[in-house]
Amino acid sequence: MDLKLLEGKLAELGEPRYRAAQAWRWAARGAEGFDVMSDLPLGLREALTESVPFSTLAVEEEAHAADGTVKVLFHTADGRPVEAVLMVYRDGRRSICLSSQSGCPLTCTFCATGQMRFGRNLTAPEILDQALHFRRRGPVDHAVFMGMGEPMMNLDNVLAACERLPDLGITHRRTAISTIGWIPGIARLAKNPMPIRLALSLHAADPALRSELMPVNDRYPLPDVIGACEAYYARKRRKVFVEYVMLAGVNDSFAQAAQLADILDPRIFKVNLIPYNPTGSQFTGSSPKAIAAFRDELERRGPRATVRLTRGREIDAACGQLAAARMIPAGR
Ligand code: SF4
Repeated sequence: MDLKLLEGKLAELGEPRYRAAQAWRWAARGAEGFDVMSDLPLGLREALTESVPFSTLAVEEEAHAADGTVKVLFHTADGRPVEAVLMVYRDGRRSICLSSQSGCPLTCTFCATGQMRFGRNLTAPEILDQALHFRRRGPVDHAVFMGMGEPMMNLDNVLAACERLPDLGITHRRTAISTIGWIPGIARLAKNPMPIRLALSLHAADPALRSELMPVNDRYPLPDVIGACEAYYARKRRKVFVEYVMLAGVNDSFAQAAQLADILDPRIFKVNLIPYNPTGSQFTGSSPKAIAAFRDELERRGPRATVRLTRGREIDAACGQLAAARMIPAGR
């Protein structure tokens, strides 16, 4: 919902300012449209239904997995693809994975979004509307910016959306922004008063391999990125989650676990090992045995490490996959 547009329309209609807050309260609690907002006058509800789109996004496709994961491909008013995922966990958590950009200007080689053409930054309403879509289906309590795009390259809009997430039931402490290591954004997040968690997509401790997997490493080398994360921790006192996607024969050896452990202070970093969802790229995922051995070696050397539960494998619920499957001609 574009709240600025809503406020403008209400002003045009001569309505008091508090009407916008009333409408937002309904939307944040999962209302399906203006028509159900029973504390707004009927005539106003009708006028708003006609003049203010209830969402900035239209659903193009929706996929449901047996484990409860729901992946949605939206498009914006100017036709840009955007995807978001709801993950439902056995302990009851309902976590949404949000996109910050349509496509991504960075070109990580293991990532389907990285193979798409970059569209543009999403606006704050377009980010929030992904969350509102799932809120209309039920409660939501966690959010991670791990969908399409590098959130730190669109931080103003990401933070503007984050400010509103608690109204939907997602506190700042249960919100995480994941970056490939965009240092200016990490520094800004450290100074922001919202206690949002930082996650770092690291994927390789070796500089040459990391640059190969994530060309952004040439611009922001890993030692500087680690320094920025340590500075974030010093200010926020919140552990940084390291995301490490496990690629068979690429970054999953004992020696690489040791190299990773060497650069991570266990007081500051916690490692999440991510089984790779093959995206039609040149990579295959590490075996469960290799992942377990990597985790054991890491923990033996210091940093705590967990293996992320895979959700929604059969619906390609990994970064960029649904949109990429539709946008990239077969065979590329
Ligand atoms: S992993 Fe993230 S930063 Fe890298 S190409 Fe994919 S969306 Fe962009």
